Amino acid sequence: MTKQELLEIALCCNRCGTCRGVVQDEIPDVAFATQCPSGMTLFGAYEPSGLMYMARGIAQGDLKWSDDLAKVLYSCTVCGYCDDFCQRGYRHVPAITILEELRSMIPARLKPKSMRKAADSLSIPKNQKLGVLKSFGVFDVTGNKKAHTIVFGDNTLLTNTPKLKEIGFILQKSGKKVGCLISEPLPPVSAALVNGGCRKELENAMAEIDARLAKHGIKQVLVYNPESLSVLQRFSNSTVEFVSIISLYARMLKTGKAKKIKLGPVTYQDPCHLGRYAKEYAAPREIIKKLGLELKEMWRRGHDSLCCGAGGGVLADNPALAKRYAGNRWYEAKATGAKVMITACPYCNANLRQAKPKDIRIMDITSLVAQAYGYSGKEASK
Ligand code: SF4
Ligand code: SF4
Repeated sequence: MTKQELLEIALCCNRCGTCRGVVQDEIPDVAFATQCPSGMTLFGAYEPSGLMYMARGIAQGDLKWSDDLAKVLYSCTVCGYCDDFCQRGYRHVPAITILEELRSMIPARLKPKSMRKAADSLSIPKNQKLGVLKSFGVFDVTGNKKAHTIVFGDNTLLTNTPKLKEIGFILQKSGKKVGCLISEPLPPVSAALVNGGCRKELENAMAEIDARLAKHGIKQVLVYNPESLSVLQRFSNSTVEFVSIISLYARMLKTGKAKKIKLGPVTYQDPCHLGRYAKEYAAPREIIKKLGLELKEMWRRGHDSLCCGAGGGVLADNPALAKRYAGNRWYEAKATGAKVMITACPYCNANLRQAKPKDIRIMDITSLVAQAYGYSGKEASK
């Protein structure tokens, strides 16, 4: 994008400021009145309209990159609320495009350390554990093997044996023939590349993914990590269907063969990359219902949900700030009276966990589904 193009889209924002807050007339608690994680915590320039104004300044040359500008830019979780909200009929500002463009323009010396190393997120660890899935009947798609559906070895799964066991167990219960590129995994793309402004690396990785999916005749890819799901959906040029693995759980639970889970009332955190980016709001709620759980929704939910604070690389770069953002979400979760917060994203889980109040639990939806099908944690040794 040229600076003129950036200026033209940044000028779409008239700094009305409405995307900093919520749209409803009645607010149950003044603490719920604002919506942008960085704006509600740090104010002013950190609000969406401040960031859009910053884009104008950079495009026009009135602002020069500095440590202070970098600090503002990397406090944004790229949660997508301002983009989603504005596209609903205000000024149609493509805020995510603007924020991602700024992240690709910022000089490398001003990027936080984690962002400078974002391209490393494509490395496959030597001790990757995807082979665990074979114990549950998931077959290795190597050589010239064909597969209709595979599970994607994302960067939160590659060395996560307990989660791979849970997923393998659920896939086995589904009765669906599922493969995985186990011995030669696909590049584990995630939002880290977008956050770090690694456009060339992302383009190359996606070209390799598209080519290898075509070679194996793959039509559907099940994805656990919402940050990988949204990147695959946005940047693939193939006709392959990329779906959240929880949509499979929701379909399985319709048959009613799982047992009910005994827990107190629960609430659900919509992960930004599953909700606002991938538009999957229904499946987690269907799962919670089928598990026999009482759902106490937070006031800000669905496309108006409040980000947990992990995204945009904030958790990786500035965990203390991410923890402050998470505190805002817990305040609202506690107001529901729920005893358990359910998440469908490993980053939401990690960030919310670091600010978790003592008297409420946090659980991953995959673990709950595995339990409902009788997973005891020992099955992989068979
Ligand atoms: S992004 Fe849209 S809603 Fe937000 S301040 Fe700009 S014009 Fe207003
Ligand atoms: S993407 Fe989210 S954190 Fe960033 S400015 Fe918009 S609302 Fe705020």
